[in-house]
Amino acid sequence: MNEAQLKHKNEEFIHKIKRENPNFFDGLKEGQSPEFFMLACSDSRVSPSVITQMPLGEMFVHRNIANQVDQEDESFSASLYYALVHLNIKKIIIKGHTDCGGVKAAWSDGVDEALSGWIGKVKQSLPDKTNANDVHIDELTKMNVQKQVARIKDHPVFKAYGEGVQVTGYLYHVATGELEKL
Ligand SMILES: [Zn+2]
Repeated sequence: MNEAQLKHKNEEFIHKIKRENPNFFDGLKEGQSPEFFMLACSDSRVSPSVITQMPLGEMFVHRNIANQVDQEDESFSASLYYALVHLNIKKIIIKGHTDCGGVKAAWSDGVDEALSGWIGKVKQSLPDKTNANDVHIDELTKMNVQKQVARIKDHPVFKAYGEGVQVTGYLYHVATGELEKL
C-alpha cells in the first residue's frame, strides 16, 4: 500500500457505502451515538473497526501503545470523560493483543530513551519479573488487559461518571484474527 492508494481506496470506500445506503453519510452528519468505547493498542495489525467490521458511528476509540489506562494521561482521561458524559456510553472494552511490542519491550531490558517513559508505565502493568520470569508473553498480554480493566474502574473520571457502565477485557489474537473475551 503506497500513499497514492490512500485517496483511491477512500473513493472506493465512499462508493461502496453509498451503493448499500445512499443516505449513510447524511445520518453521520447529524452526530454520533456510539455503543462502545474501546481502548486498544496502536499496533497496525489490530485496528478495532476492521477486526470487528463495525460500521462508522458505532465505536468511540482511544489507542495508545499497549492499551494503557493512565490517570496522568490527559488524552485518555479526556476520551473517557467524553465517552461517559457526552456520548453516554454504557460499555467499555479494553482490547489487548498477542505479540504486543509494548508489552514485549516492557518485559525486556533496554529500550530507546525516547520510549522509556511510556514503556516504564507499561512495566507497572506487568508482574515483577524476578518472581515471574517463566511467564509466557501471551499470558503477559492477557495480564496487561486485566490490569487496565482494574485501573479504569479506579480512574477518577470513571468513579465520577461510570456508574452502571460495563468494562470488559478482550485479547485479540494476531495469528488467527480471533477476539477472545477474558
Ligand atoms: Zn500492542
